[in-house]
Amino acid sequence: MAGSLLITRIGELVTNSPAEAGGPAGQGGQGGFALINDAALVIEDEKVAWIGPSARAPGADALVDAAGRAVLPGFVDSHAHLVFAGDRSAEFAARMAGEAYAAGGIRSTVTATRAATNAGLRAGLHRLAAEMLRQGTTTFECKSGYGLTVPDEARSVALAAEVTAEVTYLGAHVVPPEFDGDPGGYVDLVRGPMLDACAPHSRWVDVFCERGAFGADEARAVLAAGKARGLMPRVHANQLSQGPGVMVAVEAGAASADHCTFLTDADVAALAGSGTVATLLPGAEFGTRQPYPDARRLLDAGVVIALATDCNPGSSYTSSMPFCVALAVRDMRMTTAEAVWAATAGGARALCRTDIGYLAPGARADLIMLDAPSHAHLAYRPGVPLVRAVWRAGRRADLG
Ligand SMILES: [Zn+2]
Repeated sequence: MAGSLLITRIGELVTNSPAEAGGPAGQGGQGGFALINDAALVIEDEKVAWIGPSARAPGADALVDAAGRAVLPGFVDSHAHLVFAGDRSAEFAARMAGEAYAAGGIRSTVTATRAATNAGLRAGLHRLAAEMLRQGTTTFECKSGYGLTVPDEARSVALAAEVTAEVTYLGAHVVPPEFDGDPGGYVDLVRGPMLDACAPHSRWVDVFCERGAFGADEARAVLAAGKARGLMPRVHANQLSQGPGVMVAVEAGAASADHCTFLTDADVAALAGSGTVATLLPGAEFGTRQPYPDARRLLDAGVVIALATDCNPGSSYTSSMPFCVALAVRDMRMTTAEAVWAATAGGARALCRTDIGYLAPGARADLIMLDAPSHAHLAYRPGVPLVRAVWRAGRRADLG
């Protein structure tokens, strides 16, 4: 779109912008949750050029009348596993009927993913990316981790790079069956030839540090090797039980420790004293019928929280950030403001992005308009498709 666009008569403009929050500036222009009522916003090229009261809006080349609807930063989904094949709905149904979730369930997706063609994997990936966009997600992270051979992990990150800049190498997702009895041999592969093949397509390195997956020393080795290749660390930590994951993440300077469901006081203190974001993934607890993470304990300790979907075929097959916001508000006792901040600015923090997650001059023009007058409707009206329009980098998305 050439020229400028004015969106006017916005009932509630969520900005997450320090100027409106009145508090200290956050990283890269993100502040606390903040909003302007009766607002307007101007987009020029790919960026936000102006925000303020509707009555003082400048002219622009084109106009959209929001008619009192809410406008928010696009959702930033900082944790998703989208490159896979196969269907695990029968496993979900069995789990809902009483069977326990175990990390080893990943292996069934690995078998299907290895057998899939590139075209098949690409089709699934693009379907999920479109699904996310329709629900207001303008930036998402995408992990490998269902190939677990050098060629299958390499094609996974290469495919992910077709749809996002936030590509994560997760060779250390689970030890594949051919390395049963030799986890050390697999770790050597992950931090050696597999890393060599995946690093050129990846920004991040991740490890599932959990009983049944990888231990602390193995996780440290994988993260160190990734860092040596220029990848930034993030960790699947403390999802199923207390363990070393959070401490490994903080020690490594990880951008994020993800899940954080079972934490000791020392884990909470370590997160609060670090730059590591706690990314909470309530879709996983929903999909496995596990206790939700204690968001209030983390918030009260001063930990920065992001919310993300963990979209994956095993434990959390939702691509919906509004659903995660609703869970966070209803079941994790986050306020609507805290949950929306965590799903936008929090996700941006978890991805070390300073251009997204807020709306102020200079921010990337990633924004959504709801068919509702306030952000609270995301939790107040769960399951309802409220996202009416999406702009990504200043361009209105075709939501089909
Ligand atoms: Zn995950």
